Amino acid sequence: MKNYSRQRAAILKVLRGTTTHPSAAELYNEVKKEIPNISLGTIYRNLDELEKAGQIIKIAGKFQMDRYDGDISVHAHFICAECGKVEDYVIDPKLAIDIMRGRNKATGFILNYFGICDNCRKGRQ
Ligand SMILES: [Zn+2]
Ligand SMILES: [Zn+2]
Repeated sequence: MKNYSRQRAAILKVLRGTTTHPSAAELYNEVKKEIPNISLGTIYRNLDELEKAGQIIKIAGKFQMDRYDGDISVHAHFICAECGKVEDYVIDPKLAIDIMRGRNKATGFILNYFGICDNCRKGRQ
């Protein structure tokens, strides 16, 4: 149990310390520096549980792997269809209230924008 919560804390620490929205494999490479014997399966299991507990956000998109976010404040994502980069978009609190208005069963929402990021657009020219 002790070991288990240490793993979870290490995963959370890495996720909250980055804005790159890493995949499980990227998290695995980072967490391994602190807990060398951790397995990718353990990373996935903890990510699942953290997501169910509402402590992290899972970003499903047209990625090879799902991406994760340690920032659970209200914000949207811009997802690049070419390189898979995920950027944060600030949501005006007034817009958030509008989105939630009248949806009394809902406790939250996920908003993803799709397109081509500046870097990929530059590469095309
Ligand atoms: Zn891109
Ligand atoms: Zn985010």
